[in-house]
Amino acid sequence: MTDHNEPSGTPAVPGAVTVTASRTATVGNTLVRRALPLRSRRTVGPWCFADHMGPTPVSPTQPFSVGPHPHIGLHTVTWLTDGELIHHDSLGSEQPIRPGELNVMTAGDGVVHSEQSHATTPGRIEGIQLWVAQPDASRHGPAAFVHHTDLPTIGLHHGQLTLLAGTLPGLEVTGPTTLSDEGGLVGCELKLTGDAVVPINPRHEHAVVVLSGSVGIDDIELTPGNLGHVAPGRHELAFRVNATATVMLLGGPPFDEPLLMWWNFVARHRHEIEQARAAWVNRDERFGPVDTPLARVPAPGLPWQASSL
Ligand code: MN
Repeated sequence: MTDHNEPSGTPAVPGAVTVTASRTATVGNTLVRRALPLRSRRTVGPWCFADHMGPTPVSPTQPFSVGPHPHIGLHTVTWLTDGELIHHDSLGSEQPIRPGELNVMTAGDGVVHSEQSHATTPGRIEGIQLWVAQPDASRHGPAAFVHHTDLPTIGLHHGQLTLLAGTLPGLEVTGPTTLSDEGGLVGCELKLTGDAVVPINPRHEHAVVVLSGSVGIDDIELTPGNLGHVAPGRHELAFRVNATATVMLLGGPPFDEPLLMWWNFVARHRHEIEQARAAWVNRDERFGPVDTPLARVPAPGLPWQASSL
């Protein structure tokens, strides 16, 4: 798959909400609902990847695991609503993540990580992994990993908002991560128990990804397995909620750099992808080792080369 974020031919109506169905993909041994990227929508702000996984049962004999694999040019943003995962990376990080906590890994010029469920505890895993495309100014920089356990929350009339990154108009707090520097993006979780109104930046576009329950916006109903895109030009989102819902709200200024995404790499040009792939295949020091018994994930062949290693 090659993902160019070419502009679509039809300009969006200001503030309009449009729905795209996620596609089913496999990560490790688990099915996910991939809301980004799709052919019809590559990015929402700098958010370029969104996998909603689970709820999936895990046990010592049936774990969730993704072996060591490389990334370039992006931040991974991991958020769980159920269960526990353990993150290992080539920076030496070993970090369990639980619901309400946030993992942010910056790939820059190259990083490797693995993720697995807890080795001894049966249970369920549910969550979302997001990628943020790094801007040209920082994407060749160093890798980094940050774990946040104390995120700002704001009470809503019917629910609670937790800021993962950036902020929303009128809020006096900001999400804690370095992501907040990447061009004014926002990422938050909404746990809603009834109708709620959330202010949004009218210069940003937004994605609404429902993890559980359903929400209505205008005359559109959003459920898990869909992405609601909100075009710039809107000052608030009014959610209709009949019971309870958990929703991710992601936004930012439309990403105007020409992205090229392939496998786990976010770049601008084919030669960058080819170099990163070769470094992984050749076990180059660009992608260091991860302290885990899990097997490395092999790189697939490049779609624009008839035969590649
Ligand atoms: Mn990864």
